[in-house]
Amino acid sequence: MHLSRFPRVRLAHLPTPLEPMERLSGVLGVDLWIKRDDCTGLSTGGNKTRKLEFLMGEALAQGADMVMTQGATQTNHGRQTAAAAARLGLKCHLLLEDRTGYNNASYNHNGNVLLDHLHGATTEKFPGGHDMAAEMERAAERKRAGGHNVYVIPGGGSTPTGALGYVNGAMELVSQANDAGIRIDRVVHATGSSGTQAGLVTGLCAMNAGIPVLGIGTRAPQPKQEQMVYDLACRTAGHLGCAGVVRREDIVADTGYVGDGYGLPTDSGTEAIRMFAELEGILLDPCYSAKGAAGLIDLARKGAFAGERVVFLHTGGAAALGGYDFAFDHTDRWVSL
Ligand SMILES: *Cc1c(COP(=O)(O)O)cnc(C)c1O
Repeated sequence: MHLSRFPRVRLAHLPTPLEPMERLSGVLGVDLWIKRDDCTGLSTGGNKTRKLEFLMGEALAQGADMVMTQGATQTNHGRQTAAAAARLGLKCHLLLEDRTGYNNASYNHNGNVLLDHLHGATTEKFPGGHDMAAEMERAAERKRAGGHNVYVIPGGGSTPTGALGYVNGAMELVSQANDAGIRIDRVVHATGSSGTQAGLVTGLCAMNAGIPVLGIGTRAPQPKQEQMVYDLACRTAGHLGCAGVVRREDIVADTGYVGDGYGLPTDSGTEAIRMFAELEGILLDPCYSAKGAAGLIDLARKGAFAGERVVFLHTGGAAALGGYDFAFDHTDRWVSL
């Protein structure tokens, strides 16, 4: 795989660290490591930065002066896109869908929304269930009519171009493991719009790494989630010139940790946030990484990873915590000694 054939801008601090989680491993009885893609460096980091290196590379190659993307109100992808656009001197417009129904100030104005605005992006709100892709096309056409060259990024940056960021992530992970002499038996991470898992699996399959990937779902039911990832993996492999390397059985998603729906915190996710924060000093977010970690923790407790060394790919998201303060009861931390 020859990724330097594709346009790319450097936005991320790479390689991200690959570290053992000793205290969490001790509690769960599994050898757990973490790949710190929450430390990609752009506006508090996260998995979208790797995708944006290739998406923004393509945008610049096409002469864009404006980017547009869409997501939930607390989209991490939108915040990283806004930061990348700021860095490259492009305008950025974000279409935000109210997928949770939360009307409190934290969710609607703090966390990622605050950061979007600090990076100079403009935002526009739409009700849940709205056809966001069609809305974004309409908005882009209006801006094009006004003379802008708009590069439209689908939700989550999950296109074959964006997924190249995680083909690169797969190459980085395997070379880190090889250099350090660490055998990796499995990678577990939160999956949503599918570009992370699709890119990772495509890269691992193309290298014949023999490392299975388990995506923990955050929105769609299992058949739909796996099909989305598989379709994008096939398109990504085609884009790379290695069509056919990914088999259907290479795509595995467990969607048992979504809870009541996308962006709605769960008890197991809140427990995962507390465990990572208190045992490892690592922050997760309620929407994605906490649900991924909840799957990791539950499956570890059930013995699903017996004898394995498992790498949790931390996809970021902690910037959303300020938008979810209401989800945590921490009054018992105020004490008088
Ligand atoms: C977007 C996101 C994911 C999901 O990644 P996809 O590539 O959309 O599947 C996971 N974690 C965080 C924190 C995210 O922002």
